[in-house]
Amino acid sequence: MTADKPRVRFAPSPTGDLHVGNARTALFNWMFARHYGGEFILRIEDTDPVRTSRDFEYRILEDLAWLSIDWDEGPGKEGGKGPYHQQERLYLYDHYLKNLIEAGAVYPCYCTEAELEAERAELVFRKMMPRYMGKCRNLSDSNRKTMTDQGRKPSYRFRIGAGQIEFSDLIRGAMKFDAGALGDFIIVRSNGIPAYNFAVVVDDHLMTISHVIRGEDHLSNTALQLLIYEALGFKPPIFAHHSLILGKDRSKLSKRHGSVAVREFRERGILPEVLLNYLALLGSSFGGGREVCTQEEMISSFSLDRAGKSGAIFDEDKLNWLNGIYIRQGDLERLTERLLPYIRAAGHDVDNLDRAWLERVIDAVRGDLVTLSDIGTQMDIFFDDRYALSGEAQQVLREEQAMNVVRALRESLEQSPFSTDEAYHQIMASVAKKTGVKGKKLFMPIRAAVTGKVRGPELDKVFAILSLESLRHRAEDVISGPLGGRR
Ligand code: GLU
Repeated sequence: MTADKPRVRFAPSPTGDLHVGNARTALFNWMFARHYGGEFILRIEDTDPVRTSRDFEYRILEDLAWLSIDWDEGPGKEGGKGPYHQQERLYLYDHYLKNLIEAGAVYPCYCTEAELEAERAELVFRKMMPRYMGKCRNLSDSNRKTMTDQGRKPSYRFRIGAGQIEFSDLIRGAMKFDAGALGDFIIVRSNGIPAYNFAVVVDDHLMTISHVIRGEDHLSNTALQLLIYEALGFKPPIFAHHSLILGKDRSKLSKRHGSVAVREFRERGILPEVLLNYLALLGSSFGGGREVCTQEEMISSFSLDRAGKSGAIFDEDKLNWLNGIYIRQGDLERLTERLLPYIRAAGHDVDNLDRAWLERVIDAVRGDLVTLSDIGTQMDIFFDDRYALSGEAQQVLREEQAMNVVRALRESLEQSPFSTDEAYHQIMASVAKKTGVKGKKLFMPIRAAVTGKVRGPELDKVFAILSLESLRHRAEDVISGPLGGRR
């Protein structure tokens, strides 16, 4: 590490919602900055007015904030190296384009889309690598004038020389590209919009970025960017290209694998610290096989090596499993707060629910929650108007002795002088005594009758939460219902 504090950046193009792969890139940069006491910059790459939108930008910022990935400089946080939207930096790209034109490093290209497409097709037909063959490379001044007189607007292409482009990648080691195979590339389009490779070099240089950490899909871009650094006389940053997230079939994670946007996981009720923990962990562990890790630990134990050379498979089951752990272990009050929107969405009048009662309900069911949105169905057993016998519960109640157990339960509930908090063990003992039934044969019909389900929270908790009233009604309903007539 240099003596100076590192400056890293995350540079999303707001063309869609934040993908977990990009969130992981942001996370690596953010952890790197926090680990080494450096700065994390957020830059919005919005030069393409057709594909980018403000709406997507807001959504990306919101998702980053939800993940607690905060930036030291960027939108809403001026830091002296702005502006932080490429749209507002066009004058800078103009300036450096002029420098490159003067130095002869770039030249105007008048080829139309149709001409370029024809060239590409021809190369493919001849089984050659499609690339620009340099038609406009050596036009004379008068040729250029003719083109301009025809009303053609030029794009600007970077003149690539022969030889190798070499650099040392912090994750991948020595990298080598054959410049001759690349073809002169566009740095400013005919509509005046700078191409990604050009804008990113100008920005990373002016924003004094020390390390560029991004996905390995940018490796060949890095080769082109290094040529621009050289032509502009800029010292390039250190590059680190991390592996990508893969789907189970080992291809790059995309929509066809399922959810890929941070927002989708958020809406489904994955906790932000879980997604962060999972993305930091992906493809490795925190040492000693540990998988649950706080943000502080993530930062203190951060190492770029963990980003790995080989791709990491995104396993949603594991993410769910981790979410369950956090839900079980987290602070109950905080969990309740986070569950409120999901409880509301399930149709409950949250404002009129007693908070202490609600916390007891949540504490009882949290062991069965995988995501926050599961709360809706898991809570149903505690509401008389949502209580219903499931098919499985009916099955249990049809078994031999089951109705005897429920009848004994009703009797014990009638006689119970206790508040429900203490009643459970007394009632169970009395039902066991009355019926001579024990174990599963005793518990299952009671669970089925009292909750309408065959799985759920521990019965003592259910008894403690439900009123004696509800318990009596439910037992009564089962007995007087269609199953009650049977023996
Ligand atoms: N806007 C680019 C992207 O989203 C940034 C790549 C880079 O980090 O240079 O892929």
